[in-house]
Amino acid sequence: MNKVYSIIPIDKTKSPDKVVLLTFDDGPKQEVTLKPLLDTLGKHHAKAIFFVNGYRVKAHPELLKEINDRGQVIGNHSYDHIMLGKEKEPKVRDQIERVQSIVKEVTGKTPVFFRPPFASSNDAVRKVAKDNGLLYMTWSNGSLDWALGTKVQNKPQAIIDNVMKQLHPGSNILMHELPWTGQALDSLLTQLEAKGYSFVDPNAIDVSLK
Ligand SMILES: [Zn+2]
Repeated sequence: MNKVYSIIPIDKTKSPDKVVLLTFDDGPKQEVTLKPLLDTLGKHHAKAIFFVNGYRVKAHPELLKEINDRGQVIGNHSYDHIMLGKEKEPKVRDQIERVQSIVKEVTGKTPVFFRPPFASSNDAVRKVAKDNGLLYMTWSNGSLDWALGTKVQNKPQAIIDNVMKQLHPGSNILMHELPWTGQALDSLLTQLEAKGYSFVDPNAIDVSLK
């Protein structure tokens, strides 16, 4: 990953640069919105990072387990989805470390990826992420699927258009667990494949913090 959160080949001779990283934030919410994402990823043999919130994991540990069981990767998106950039270190630490614990408890794995809600950050956020061995990222390609009440809600095609407009090699694509994203995903992945893109396996990302 580079400084603007795009994915670049570790070894240019071995891996293509026409790749995208798929990410889904703010879950796990409900079976009905999660399942289409998992099914479509499975159909395309694609892996993604699901950046989860602790309070949602607490409400639906079985959904977190399902994400993990389907071979997808779980990232830390803070416990309560708050603006971490406005908080001091103890609160930031609590928000990040409680997610590390609950995900470990449910799946047996500790997250290695972190994305702050609203991309709201400060020195404490970066320090606590680093202390926990987390690779910090925001995104480089926003689907705008979260822009409720605007052009995108219930318009899967608008999500696809937004992603394709911003498409670049290494795109770190921000999406959410939302019904219209589930409806858009199959077509989006098909179009990306048609343009010669493949999907980065998050497990292949170098998370060593330099
Ligand atoms: Zn979020």
